This record gives sequence, C-alpha cells and structure tokens, in this order.
Amino acid sequence: MKIVDVKSYVLESKLKPEQYFTWAQAKVTSRVEALLEIFTDEGVSGIGEAFGFSPMAVKACADHSYKPLLLGENPLDTNRLWDKLYTATRMEGQKGVTVQALSAVDIALWDIKGKIFKTPVANLLGGRYREWVDTYPTGLYRKDVKNQTAALVEEARGYLDKGYRAMKLKIGFGLEDDLGKIAAIRKAIGPQIRLMLDANCAYNASEAIWLGQRAEKFDIFWLEEPIPPEDIQGHLEIKEKIKIMLASGESEFTRYGFRDLISKRAVDIIQPDLCSVGGYSEMMKIIALASTWNIRCIPHVWGTAVGLAANLQLQAAMPHFPTSLNPEQSLIEFDRTPNPLREELVEERFEMDGTKMKIPERPGLGVTLNRKALEKYRIGHP
Ligand code: CA
Repeated sequence: MKIVDVKSYVLESKLKPEQYFTWAQAKVTSRVEALLEIFTDEGVSGIGEAFGFSPMAVKACADHSYKPLLLGENPLDTNRLWDKLYTATRMEGQKGVTVQALSAVDIALWDIKGKIFKTPVANLLGGRYREWVDTYPTGLYRKDVKNQTAALVEEARGYLDKGYRAMKLKIGFGLEDDLGKIAAIRKAIGPQIRLMLDANCAYNASEAIWLGQRAEKFDIFWLEEPIPPEDIQGHLEIKEKIKIMLASGESEFTRYGFRDLISKRAVDIIQPDLCSVGGYSEMMKIIALASTWNIRCIPHVWGTAVGLAANLQLQAAMPHFPTSLNPEQSLIEFDRTPNPLREELVEERFEMDGTKMKIPERPGLGVTLNRKALEKYRIGHP
C-alpha cells in the first residue's frame, strides 16, 4: 500500500457579533482550523486535524514540506514516518506550526491504519479503558455584554442545570477583576462542583502567586497556564507557593517539550493537545513519560468534529496512573463556545448521556467528512 496524495484544507467559520468571545490574549470573531487528508492506492483515506491559529501556515508546511516526503510511502509505518518528517524540519521546526502540521499527518495515518485493520484507533493504541468519557465544559469566556459577572453566572448556572460536575472559568483579565469573577462563580455553583481557572499565560510568576494564594479559599481544582510556557522556573516557584494544582501543556510540543515539564515536576497536570503535540504516535510517548512520574494527563481539546473524534479514541486508551480500585476518571475538555465546524463537519453525531460522551466503535477515527460542509467553510487556495 502506498500514499498517493495528501490534501490540506483551511476552514473558517465567521461568528455573528453576538457570538464573539474573548480570552486573555484575543477576541475570537471567527473559528479557523486546518484539516489534512491522506489518500492511498487501495482507495482508503484518512483525515487529521492540526490545532492552532495559523492554519494557512500549517497548510504551507503540509503541502510543501511534508507531502513530497509522504508520497509513495507505506501509511502503516507511523513511527518511521513521524521520524522522517520531524527530522526533515527539525532545524526550524521543533515546536509550533511544523509539529501541528505533523500532528494532522499522524492522525490521518492512524485513521487509515484503523480502516485497514477494520478497528477503532483506540484498539490499536493499546485497547479500551472505557466506553464513555465524562466531559467538562470550557466556556465562561468574556462576552460583549455590559455586566460580565451576571453573564458568567448565568452561563455557569446553565452548566449546572445540564448536570456538569466541573467547569472552567477564563481569567487573565486583571488580578482584582479575576478574583471578583472567581468569587461570583463559586457562590453561584456552590461548594460541590469542581472549578478550574485558565489564565492563558496572562501573568508572570509573582502575579500568579498573588492571585493563586487569594483564590485558594474558593477551592479551585486546578490553575491552568497562569504564566507563559517558556518560563519553567516560574512554574516551579508557583508550585512552591500555592496549594492549587498547576496545569499546563497546550502550548508545548513533542516528548522533548514535555520531558522538561515532567522531569522537573514543573506542573501537577499536563495538558498536551493531540492535534498539536505530534498526533497519536507522540502523544502515547508523552503519556508513557508522564506515567513514570505519576503526573496526571488531561489533554487539551479544541477544534472541529474531526479533532473531537480523534480525542475520543485517545480517551478510550488513556491509562490510569497510578492504578487503584477507584482512580480519578479521565476527563475530556468540551468546548462550549459557538463553532459550526464542531457541529457540521462530519456525517455522524456524537452520542451523549448527560455529560458523558460515547467513544465511537467504528473503524479509524469513526467519522466521515461531510464534503458539503467542507466546501462551505473552505477558504484560500485549493
Ligand atoms: Ca487552556
């Protein structure tokens, strides 16, 4: 079997003004994603997704750097092809767009592998720990409204009504401002619900410590990306000074990037993104690395229905470490902001039972691209 073609797609869905939302670094007015498809001479094809906000750059890397190296190759050789592509761009691409594009390639190759062996990707990753995975909503962003606190409280109450037992609040909008919102949300949801905070790298270590110490009384389950990922020493200082678990990793890449976070014990929870760290091949190595330090892995998830499907397969195969009779259960991040690319891009519907999501049992990623939706949202050059 040989790879005969590689196609990449840049998708954009413009949001309506009333759907705009803001995180600590940017206001989101449209959703953009990059997908990639690999075709074989046996008629089987696979689909993958790259996380990130530079999909045109992902496409340029996929089309010009990776495609020529993939044509004629055996798509089942996932580890060897990963090494080949990573090595080809290593000098300029150890982190960032090149690895994100490589992630889409790797996920598409695993989709092909699953279809060839007629089994879900999870079964090829080591088998299934679970058939259902609990979700936690990522929402509680800032919106274009006069009373932010009231809007956040209303949204949080909506998640409560849907039965969620955990939710994540976006912070990073100013220390005192953040504290006010944290207090209001905790008051609204009561003491039983897990509340996480995500600052999207808005602070330095001293500020994060100031905030984290004052947030402790609101029983925060984890504090996510309080500072930029490059500052590993800052992570260690925060861990020393606050009692909230520190989470990070969505801006980190490959086993080499995670080696430093893990081996220095710079975080309590790693959050690698399957569509950004290098795909399944690399993610399984990162998970193995984390398991040797007993550091929890709760992947970051964002993007289209393809990325969600890929993450569900990963979730099935996520091990517990350490093991016990009643271990902390795996959790999948469930973006609740408006995104037609998450709703329309595949033919299948994701089955839910309350807040739990069913892990599909169809071969590969278990999804079929909706070609009409693909054309509807596709932008730029073919
Ligand atoms: Ca985040």
